[in-house]
Amino acid sequence: KSICTSVNEVICHGIPDSRPLAEGDTVNVDVTVFTEGMHGDCSATVCVGGVNPVARRLVEGSLRCLQAGIAAATPGWPFSELGRAIESVATELGYSVVRQYVGHSIGDQMHTGFQVLHHYSPSESSRMEPGMAFTIEPMINAGTFRAAAWDDGWTAVTADLARSAQFEHTVLMTEHGVEVLTANALVPAS
Ligand code: MN
Repeated sequence: KSICTSVNEVICHGIPDSRPLAEGDTVNVDVTVFTEGMHGDCSATVCVGGVNPVARRLVEGSLRCLQAGIAAATPGWPFSELGRAIESVATELGYSVVRQYVGHSIGDQMHTGFQVLHHYSPSESSRMEPGMAFTIEPMINAGTFRAAAWDDGWTAVTADLARSAQFEHTVLMTEHGVEVLTANALVPAS
């Protein structure tokens, strides 16, 4: 499959299958491209038809979490500030931040190099330096932050089967601030 489709309680890595989407579902579509020797990575969660207000609030809240992370991405700052900004928005809204799956450095490799935690980890002391490209992709849960896996060993779901939502951008840190490389109309960066 060329994309991931993560529906409702699926946190990430959902594999597209033949189940028809139903009104009320929320679906994260995660797309990566490889062009001119470089990878890009982005995702958005969309609502299928009329979605109940509780689910819609989660989707909108998860976008706010991404935007808070982007706003906190500052050259020279520790990555922990990014996690702190994201987690404080999530906590304020009554949600939890997935810890098992994280953002990552990106470039000519897709998933190597450093990790980007979306929760606050005071021991995370590495800093955002100009020239670094990485993803910010907080996975926000309505219930517990804990994840479980389907029998396929790949699809990640919430441990309590409560809904999860996510938005993702690939960003580049410059001397003057962060540049969003995957800017698109569906996922406003601020
Ligand atoms: Mn990613």
